[in-house]
Amino acid sequence: MRRNIVAGNWKMYKNLEQTRELVNRLKTNLDVDLKGTSVIVCPPFTSLSLASTLLQGSEIQLGAQNMHQEEEGAFTGEISAGMLIAAGCRYVILGHSERRQYFKETNELINTKAKKAIAAGLKPIICVGELLEEREKGITEQVVAAQIRGVLNGFTQSDLESTIIAYEPVWAIGTGKTATPDQAQAVHQFIRKIVGQSHTWALAERLVIQYGGSVKPDNAAELFAQPDIDGGLVGGACLKADSFTQIVKCAIS
Ligand code: PEP
Repeated sequence: MRRNIVAGNWKMYKNLEQTRELVNRLKTNLDVDLKGTSVIVCPPFTSLSLASTLLQGSEIQLGAQNMHQEEEGAFTGEISAGMLIAAGCRYVILGHSERRQYFKETNELINTKAKKAIAAGLKPIICVGELLEEREKGITEQVVAAQIRGVLNGFTQSDLESTIIAYEPVWAIGTGKTATPDQAQAVHQFIRKIVGQSHTWALAERLVIQYGGSVKPDNAAELFAQPDIDGGLVGGACLKADSFTQIVKCAIS
């Protein structure tokens, strides 16, 4: 049976003092029986070590927002998978739409990064999702299928077992516009079908597919109740302990 995973993408927010405050509040709020739901926080690189220390003894896990595909070298400003592991991370978000848009990340690069992440022992949370104009043109499935095939190209069964997909329609990220539960469910079901075709139906059934895009305390329960939605990747609403806590509680079943 799949378990929900709720991850908070802090983006470029929170200095060390703010990290301490948010993590400590989350630790207190979420000191409950999570019933198998995984909770992950993904602060900026500069806060990872502090968050890792603060999270010791807590069930909340740590993830990063990006990584470089090489293990080390002259890549100024970049961070490797090994460095993330050493900082206490178990997860890494890859291919977020902001990385695709502002840093020109392609499916091919995201695929390379994901393989490196898995080899190093990290679980990638790989983001896919269509632009507004693509949805309006009626090509959502085409776009998402191409992204899924591209980012999972060459994945073995065991690679896929370590992978999480986040379906994030780009038009719903940071805009306050959420996909309706039916719209999101339809794409999640479609992603599972594509993965079933490229790998096996059993693997597709076990694949965790999160929804992301303006998830808030007042829409999370309905989204997470959909049969193919396995929790969420949360941006804006994860920056406040109370709203992230309420969203996590909607995922605990
Ligand atoms: C995100 O950045 O992954 C995201 C889903 O943001 P928001 O929840 O703010 O739409």
